[in-house]
Amino acid sequence: MDGGRDAPRTTVKEFSEARGISCLNRSKDQGGRRAPVSSPDVALSDRVLMGPGPCNPYPEAVAALGRPMLGHLDPEFLALLDETNDRLRALFGTTNALTLPISGTGSAGMEALIVNSVGPGDVVVVGVNGVFGERMCEVARRAGADVVRVEAPWGQPLDPQAVLDAHPSPKVIAVVHAETSTGIRNDIEPLGEGKGDALLLVDCVTSLGGIAVEVDGWGIDLAYSGTQKCLGVPPGLSPITVSPRARERFVESPSWYLDLGLIGDYATAGSARRYHHTAPVSMIMSLHAGLGAVLDEGIQATLDRHEACGRMLQQGLEKMGCALWAADGHRLPQLTTTEVPDGVDEAQVRSLLLRRHGIEIGGGLGPVAGKVWRIGCMGHTARPRNVRLLLASLAEATGR
Ligand code: PLP
Repeated sequence: MDGGRDAPRTTVKEFSEARGISCLNRSKDQGGRRAPVSSPDVALSDRVLMGPGPCNPYPEAVAALGRPMLGHLDPEFLALLDETNDRLRALFGTTNALTLPISGTGSAGMEALIVNSVGPGDVVVVGVNGVFGERMCEVARRAGADVVRVEAPWGQPLDPQAVLDAHPSPKVIAVVHAETSTGIRNDIEPLGEGKGDALLLVDCVTSLGGIAVEVDGWGIDLAYSGTQKCLGVPPGLSPITVSPRARERFVESPSWYLDLGLIGDYATAGSARRYHHTAPVSMIMSLHAGLGAVLDEGIQATLDRHEACGRMLQQGLEKMGCALWAADGHRLPQLTTTEVPDGVDEAQVRSLLLRRHGIEIGGGLGPVAGKVWRIGCMGHTARPRNVRLLLASLAEATGR
């Protein structure tokens, strides 16, 4: 039988050699037994991650991935989870009890909040001025919502009054705070002030930890984020927070995995701690440590660092003759979009930066594909030394 006990077997050495991978020493140890098998050592580069995410994670977040594994019901792990949720509350600026990391990336948080809050026929007003507003429309549509779109041109902010005027009684108003596809910040406070009976749902994937987010202060009912942007943690979790008002209006989630009632019954302090799914223990340890790094630095100091790096980058680009693309006054410090100068091959420059300097930046999406670069300064990457390196490397690559 193919692959059965007597079938010829490929050794790790043969497997590795066939793929040009160097193989770790598998010589026999002194007792005649095989030395412990390590996976083949695939060479990976240490990049400076200045694209739209992931960023370079904080060293504390990386180190925490190697902490001892604990069971997901171990009291020591549950204490760490509770503390992680407290740290998330501090960053979100909320006292919401239902604040926790969803297993999965930012899109999982988006989907979890939508499928628990929106049922068939519910009206959802969505502000659309980039890829992620568009994604919210699609997720809400699949949840059966009657989606009302309010658009602004890419590179421009949404008009909050137009969003508020789009429907007299929506169940949910949904917007992206920091549009990673364009580098635009949308204003949230006027939406909280004018939302009336609607629930306000905000995508904070790229904003949390990079610019101010005040969930309670701004009247946000539902918010989600992602670990791999300004939180400075590897991708894999989506922190969420839900106001008591939004919780009262939950619908039955068609997704069992993303049912926030069931997840909350395990993941929040004082709950039954009932098993739902196996928590991604190491990732939660990493998030706990990354949030610890931010809180040790101070939330305001972390935001100031992002602001200073963004300003330095944007001034440097302008000095180099690269026009900034996102509307002035609503530019994100953590994600800068800049026009590709005439006569420059944008993909070639990105490839050169990666190969020659180990720096990753992003290209444009949608209508500006091939026309802009997206340069991130997020989390541990948001350091002046990285900005200087990027500016010098870009000047060299573009001959400026
Ligand atoms: N929302 C925004 C603003 C994002 O930038 C992203 C990812 O870049 C997402 C949502 C989706 O997150 P993920 O790719 O982690 O699923």
